[in-house]
Amino acid sequence: MARPTNALASYSHKRNFTRTPEPKGRIGRKQGRSFVIQKHDASRLHFDFRLELDGVLKSWAVTKGPSLDPSEKRLAVRVEDHPLDYGDFEGTIPKGQYGGGTGMLWDKGGWEAEIDPHEGVGKGKLSFILKGMRLKGGFTLVRMRKGSSGRTARENWLLIKQRDAEASTEVDPVEAWQKSVETRRSMEGIAKANTRTWRSKTTRKKKT
Ligand code: MN
Repeated sequence: MARPTNALASYSHKRNFTRTPEPKGRIGRKQGRSFVIQKHDASRLHFDFRLELDGVLKSWAVTKGPSLDPSEKRLAVRVEDHPLDYGDFEGTIPKGQYGGGTGMLWDKGGWEAEIDPHEGVGKGKLSFILKGMRLKGGFTLVRMRKGSSGRTARENWLLIKQRDAEASTEVDPVEAWQKSVETRRSMEGIAKANTRTWRSKTTRKKKT
């Protein structure tokens, strides 16, 4: 095989694609540099920050969401790589399924590496320019050292705005942008629209 196919093994393993509307996806072309942020009202509200690299979306769950204030370091927990198709996903994952809850496309665009991103993922430091519809300018993701008590394999990183013209201590992006960057829907609007879809799917499945 020309390309390792296991980059999405963890993603696929966690999901039941007969139950979730999330894309199955596969590893894409390697050259792209898209990024997407999804607001995800799961068991706990968070923002999924995803950077395209090597045909997948490298992903972090940012509990409080991104900040434009360089003095605000936001916890970003590394999660499994997602397929590129996930960059178009907006909808509700049914209760009981992995990540159950509503997901909104909150920002999207491109990004540009300031340091070699392949090395960066391994070494625990990524520095990049976002060219999003909403977020712009320099950001840094740095991996924190593992705590001595930490038994989990969880990787904690910090998402930090760089000091540049796009930095701001006044604008809170999480407050400023409450609607989908793609469909302009609110979280409630997305949730309502999707309940119907799933009901019909569930009904169909039960018959067979
Ligand atoms: Mn999530």
